[in-house]
Amino acid sequence: MPCSDSRVVPTPFTGARPGDLLELRTAGDIAPPYQGHAACGVAGSLELAVRAQQVPDIVVCGHSHCGAVQGLLREQNVQTMPPVRRWLSEAGHRTRSDERRQTQGLGEDPVAATRRHVLAQHDHLRDVPSRTERTP
Ligand SMILES: [Zn+2]
Repeated sequence: MPCSDSRVVPTPFTGARPGDLLELRTAGDIAPPYQGHAACGVAGSLELAVRAQQVPDIVVCGHSHCGAVQGLLREQNVQTMPPVRRWLSEAGHRTRSDERRQTQGLGEDPVAATRRHVLAQHDHLRDVPSRTERTP
């Protein structure tokens, strides 16, 4: 799951060839918490990939200078974009302030924030049914 940011191109650093990767791109590579009963393009795409197309691994591909993560760090950046704010609320976390950095006027560490963000998306993906599970 790479971010929809056009600067993120997985094939060069994965060595993948055409047909090797099924890319599900979302802004900020956000994977909302899985809710099997809710209509959600991300959940439907993931379930189809895993269960029907037998994709063995899901990789969340965070990146530096991600606009979505920046929006989580500085809500004022997305204040005038209600759909973006709602989408970011699906990230499942809010950034927390790093007191040492804050007192130095540096703000949140963007690398640490990106790592926390990617880990939160991994947590959401744990609930996606595997290809061996059956829908009740
Ligand atoms: Zn991004």
